[in-house]
Amino acid sequence: MDDVIQMVGVEKWYDKAHILKGVNLTVKRGEHLVLCGPSGSGKSTLIRCINYLEKTQGGKIMVNGVELGTHGKGAEKVRNDVGMVFQQFNLFPHLTVLENCMLAPRRVQKVKASEAKERAMRYLSRVKVADQAHKYPAQLSGGQQQRVAIARALCMDPKIMLFDEPTSALDPEMVKEVLDTMIGLADDGITMICVTHEMGFAKSVAHRVLFMDGGQIIESSPPKEFFSAPSHPRTQAFLAQILAH
Ligand code: ADP
Ligand code: MG
Repeated sequence: MDDVIQMVGVEKWYDKAHILKGVNLTVKRGEHLVLCGPSGSGKSTLIRCINYLEKTQGGKIMVNGVELGTHGKGAEKVRNDVGMVFQQFNLFPHLTVLENCMLAPRRVQKVKASEAKERAMRYLSRVKVADQAHKYPAQLSGGQQQRVAIARALCMDPKIMLFDEPTSALDPEMVKEVLDTMIGLADDGITMICVTHEMGFAKSVAHRVLFMDGGQIIESSPPKEFFSAPSHPRTQAFLAQILAH
């Protein structure tokens, strides 16, 4: 397996707030990582830096062989390879499900309409919402909307998928359908980083679980070790808190 993401000494500041403090992370092709940690620890910022939704002020990020300079060079190429799914589904409300899925392949990749449609229907089927293709997002449940958001990201044929708390905004009964969709993707071998506190998901698909605190990754281990013998006291405290809920 080759390294598909490399972060070396990545520094991120918002004004005087130091958010990422020398983050080092290497992700192998096909690897599935779960990233957890307390609110405000920098999880969203970290994954947003990977497709240049955030600028960095130091260090180096390489994604699928392209270096992301601190001034955004390489960003466009990288974004073609990286799909992202957010907590709030971020679908365009004035476009149908099908149009949402066709938009980026048409605009960014200049794919023909017929091919964009074929791709959209293929991925909508894959996430089991093909029957909703002609509806508007507001006509769908939260779980369906999030599955559409996943299909939309897949329509760009990404090499890497980033998920930022994809089930946190969902009603409990819809969490499983979205997690099952993500488990299916993992089984297909795509590289993924998922910020989540769904520990069952972490146990079933993660090769490694990362724990972030105060802008640094302070633990990185296979789920078995992570849950049974976390090395850092802050990881232990965090797990105790999560498991108490
Ligand atoms: P997490 O996802 O782990 O909850 P974030 O990466 O969202 O953490 O945030 C890390 C820190 O950066 C927090 O203290 C947050 O307040 C701060 N932060 C996030 N986005 C911004 C922003 N656009 N401007 C200023 N501070 C921000
Ligand atoms: Mg976050």
